[in-house]
Amino acid sequence: MNMIDPFGRTISYLRVSVTDRCDFRCTYCMAEDMAFLPKKDLLSLEELDRLCTVFIEKGVKRLRLTGGEPLVRKNIMHLVRQLSRHLDSGALEELTLTTNGSQLSRFAAELAECGVKRINVSLDTLDADKFHQITRWGHLDKVMQGIDAAQAAGLKVKLNAVALKDFNDAELPDMMRWAHGRGMDLTVIETMPMGEIDADRTDQYVPLSLLRASLERQFTLTDIPFKTGGPARYVHVAETGGKLGFITPMTHNFCESCNRVRLTCTGTLYMCLGQEDAADLRAPLRASESNELVADAIDEAIGRKPKGHDFIIDRRTSRPSVSRHMSVTGG
Ligand code: SAM
Repeated sequence: MNMIDPFGRTISYLRVSVTDRCDFRCTYCMAEDMAFLPKKDLLSLEELDRLCTVFIEKGVKRLRLTGGEPLVRKNIMHLVRQLSRHLDSGALEELTLTTNGSQLSRFAAELAECGVKRINVSLDTLDADKFHQITRWGHLDKVMQGIDAAQAAGLKVKLNAVALKDFNDAELPDMMRWAHGRGMDLTVIETMPMGEIDADRTDQYVPLSLLRASLERQFTLTDIPFKTGGPARYVHVAETGGKLGFITPMTHNFCESCNRVRLTCTGTLYMCLGQEDAADLRAPLRASESNELVADAIDEAIGRKPKGHDFIIDRRTSRPSVSRHMSVTGG
């Protein structure tokens, strides 16, 4: 039953974007006047649960809800609670979520109750004014309250920061000290050319090889084999005692170990974050009450999973490598 792609990689990780909507408008992620999907195109929570269940039956062990902002989808906790039955049965090893943290103070305790053990919170700066500037609509104090609530509920929190030139690159050492001081790991991410935004990505892009070299002038970084199932490569930081992850889609391709596929809220399956090819699972899901058609469509899609992606950011390449925004496929 396991899903194995043409390059011998076993697919055991599903990321599900439960909505393309978000209560923030991060400048590197979205344009300010984004057109969102009409609600009628979305899979219902029951349909999302059914699709996730088919993937779990086909060998998915880790499932991450993302978006858009997953916690702004109406009744999202209903889906989380439903999916938690697969944790109880042992079929699923991990149910987790990536969030901007704005709604966490409302939901953290319930997430923990449903068996969620760790979450990723995206946070690009600790400066309230800069936070408002980069998210356009967000307020740092709400996110801080959310992180407090998550830690109080016993959730392990990892912070994700996109490295942005002349915005947060100089602040990242302080962010790391702060995160590690609160028992949170930090992962930094290279900005990827996905979707049209209002800014020029060449101006924003920081190769993490440069960031690492600059951190090494202040900190002792030791490579460690730690893995959380994702593409981050981790170092241990002697001075803080914490872990720092690097996600480097631009400077270091990590596709050889890719174990994941991504499902959107309309039932489109992307076999690679950095490619346009996709498979529609909504039609086979709706065509029959049994799951055979959709299981066949999944097998056919996994058989087309590409070897990897090739993102390019430079002055000659003004168009994004993939046309959809990160909020569609889910980060
Ligand atoms: N709303 C949730 C959040 O903020 O984490 C989940 C969705 S968001 C699209 C997931 C992650 O993708 C965030 O950490 C965000 O910073 C990151 N992201 C968005 N656009 C990106 C881009 N073009 N390159 C790299 N990371 C990006």
